[in-house]
Amino acid sequence: MTTQSITATTHQSPLATAHAQLAGAVEHLGYDDGIHAMLATPRREIHVSVPLRRDDGTTVLFHGFRVQHNVSRGPGKGGLRFHPSVDIDEVRALAMWMTWKCAIVDLPYGGAKGGVAVDPAQHSTAELERVTRRYTSEIMPMIGPDTDIMAPDMGTDERTMAWVMDTYSVNRGYTIPAVVTGKPIAVGGSLGRGTATSAGIVHVTEAALQEAGERLEGTTVAIQGFGKVGGHAAQIFARRGARVVAVSDQHGGVRADDGLDVTRLLEHVGATGSVVGFDGGDPVSNAELLGTDADVLVPAAIQGVLDADTAPDVRARFVVEGANGPTTTEGDRILAKNGVTVVPDVLANAGGVVVSYFEWVQANQAYWWTAEEIAQKLEHRMVAAYEDVAQHARREGLSLRDAALTIGVKRVAEAHQIRGLYP
Ligand code: NAD
Repeated sequence: MTTQSITATTHQSPLATAHAQLAGAVEHLGYDDGIHAMLATPRREIHVSVPLRRDDGTTVLFHGFRVQHNVSRGPGKGGLRFHPSVDIDEVRALAMWMTWKCAIVDLPYGGAKGGVAVDPAQHSTAELERVTRRYTSEIMPMIGPDTDIMAPDMGTDERTMAWVMDTYSVNRGYTIPAVVTGKPIAVGGSLGRGTATSAGIVHVTEAALQEAGERLEGTTVAIQGFGKVGGHAAQIFARRGARVVAVSDQHGGVRADDGLDVTRLLEHVGATGSVVGFDGGDPVSNAELLGTDADVLVPAAIQGVLDADTAPDVRARFVVEGANGPTTTEGDRILAKNGVTVVPDVLANAGGVVVSYFEWVQANQAYWWTAEEIAQKLEHRMVAAYEDVAQHARREGLSLRDAALTIGVKRVAEAHQIRGLYP
């Protein structure tokens, strides 16, 4: 099996990280090579060309992908990423993590992911709309409310989801809101979806602190990435009485030991597009941010940032993974050796897909829940999933990541086994 020969390197690809994690869970569960191969291999994938007619009349071509890693527990579910470094292996890794994540929080979904290798910062809104619509029409045979449901990820947002939903609906001849989640409220989005991933991160952080006999109030937090996940997480942490002492984005970072004024910082980002230049703190680089003297570090930007080079510098006692795959296998080993508790991505950032599920349920019923109902149900799911994972970790002597993956992989393998093999 190729997956077993993968070894950790300093610059490990997301797919190598995902395969190494799966191999660990498979070994712990005692599964044979056949089951391992099924769990390691995407069920379906599609690679499409996305030509764009630019506003100036010229044409450029982008590559797009959609991967359904596993659909044994239900339709594929996963985000759509617009980023220049997107490739098929990255999408495969992200789709695999979605499979385990949906199983860990016990949603009736499999795992999927999509991406287009395009830099949204280089394109007008009209160009991004054309990219989205062409990509959607190319992958149309693979998606649908009962087959594969998209949501926003890096570089995409609720407006992108409205374009996907409209393109899909126009081609089917009627409005089908449940083909995407994370869409605007005006076209069937759910209250609370925009902040759900971040709210979930705060819930599991609080649960991890409580397990260690600590409280969220007064806890210091550093956050890498100030987009949809990191920005809202900073706001919710601050509202809950934690002290956000450093944040960064792709351009640089800012820190203030007494705590950043997150509301003013969000206004600054709204006006300038970056946290850089904020007058309420001192500049800090992304590398320095990872080594900030804070109780909790939340990597909420890109994958692979905590590796053999950077993990030794982490001074936080808790790493709560907002991003997908921010820690490599070697990074994980170093953090564990240094006594850092890592709340893994497949659990920590699952709040987004939990409220996506609520959105899908509401869209299918055409009946809408209140913000309070959604917030309560989200907290209940996240805390229950954390407790499940933490209890399993204690019982089996595993890290939270290994415990979470073991639970997720086992649920998926059970679904395979119960359904049997066709034909
Ligand atoms: P986003 O595009 O809204 O924000 C990304 C942020 O990361 C931006 O602030 C950007 O400047 C920063 N960034 C990009 N490259 C960076 C770099 N090299 N160094 C430092 N910062 C960098 O994306 P998002 O939706 O907030 O997603 C962030 C991460 O969270 C991704 O890994 C994504 O897969 C994961 N995630 C997102 C959701 C969701 O609901 N949006 C759910 C689960 C997981």
